[in-house]
Amino acid sequence: MSFKVLLPESEDELMTMLMYDNAELMAGGTDLLVRIRAGKVKPDKVISLAKIPDMDEIVDKGDRIRIGCKVTHAMALNSEIVQRNSPIMVLALREIGSPQIRNRGTIAGNIVNASPAGDSLVPLYLSNARVIIHGPKGERKLPIEEFIKGPGKTALSMGEYLRAVDFEKTGDWYPVFHKVGQRTALAIAIASLGMLIKKDKIRIVFGSVAPTVVRAYKAERFYERVNGDITVMDEFLERCLEYLSPIDDVRASAWYRKEVIKNLLKRTFDSWRKRVL
Ligand SMILES: Cc1cc2nc3c(=O)[nH]c(=O)nc-3n(C[C@H](O)[C@H](O)[C@H](O)COP(=O)(O)OP(=O)(O)OC[C@H]3O[C@@H](n4cnc5c(N)ncnc54)[C@H](O)[C@@H]3O)c2cc1C
Repeated sequence: MSFKVLLPESEDELMTMLMYDNAELMAGGTDLLVRIRAGKVKPDKVISLAKIPDMDEIVDKGDRIRIGCKVTHAMALNSEIVQRNSPIMVLALREIGSPQIRNRGTIAGNIVNASPAGDSLVPLYLSNARVIIHGPKGERKLPIEEFIKGPGKTALSMGEYLRAVDFEKTGDWYPVFHKVGQRTALAIAIASLGMLIKKDKIRIVFGSVAPTVVRAYKAERFYERVNGDITVMDEFLERCLEYLSPIDDVRASAWYRKEVIKNLLKRTFDSWRKRVL
C-alpha cells in the first residue's frame, strides 16, 4: 500500500491532475483511506484538496444554501445559515460518526461516496439538492437523484469533481430524522427515515433500504390528494413501502429493515397527530 500524495493549489491544477491514470481525489479521507487500507482501491496517486483555497463557502443564495466541497459536517452544523434555514440538515448531520469524523468528513465526500446509508443524503434529497460539477468542459448542475446512480456510482466523468451542492431552505417545514443502527454512536444506518411536513404537504426519504437513498414521491402525492388526512394511514403506508427494496447484509436482514421503516413511519405520524389535533 504505497501512493504519492499530490497537493494542487488551484482548481486548474486539480483538473489537470484528475486526468492522471489511477488517481483518487481525497477531501477528508474518512471513506477513501478506509477503502485504501482494506485494499478495495489501490491508487498510485491521491490528490488532496487540502491546499486549494476558497472551497469551504456556506452561502445564503436567497431560497437556497450553497455549500462548497471542503465544508465538513462540523462546519455545516456550526453555520448559522444552516441552523436557521435547514433544521433537517442539522438533525441528520448530528448523527454522523463521532466528533472526529464530523470534523474531517465533508458533505461532498458523503455525496460522492454514494452510499444508500449516507446520512447527509437524506436531508439533501428532501431539500431538492443540486450538485455543481466542475470539469474540463466547464460547469454543470444535476439534481442529486440524477447524480447518484447506485451504490458507489455517480455521474462524474473523467476529470470532473463535485465543486459544491445547493439545496432549498426548509426552515418553515416540520423536520423529522430517524436513524436506526446497531448501536447509538458511530454506527452506519440499518434504516433511516427523513420527512418534512407542512400542513397538507409532505416530503419523505428513506435511507439504507434500497440501492440508493430514495424519495417516496407517490406517497407524497397521495398525502396531498387526501389533504394530509392521517386517518388513511394504511393506504399511505402501502405507497411508502413500494419504495423499499432492502437487502440482507451483515448489519440487518431485509425483513428487519422493512419493519423498522414501518414502525418509524407509524411513530412519526403518532407524534404528528398529537401535534396537529
Ligand atoms: C468511523 C467512521 C464512522 C462513519 N460514520 C458515518 C455515519 O454515521 N454516517 C455517514 O453518512 N457516514 C459515515 N462515515 C463515512 C464518512 O465519514 C462520510 O461519508 C464522509 O462524509 C466522507 O467525506 P470525506 O471528506 O472524508 O470523503 P473522502 O474519504 O475524502 O472521499 C470519499 C469519496 O468521495 C470522493 N470525493 C470526495 N470529495 C470529492 C469531490 N469534491 N469531488 C469528487 N469526488 C470527491 C473521493 O474520491 C472518495 O471516492 C463514517 C466513516 C468512518 C471512518
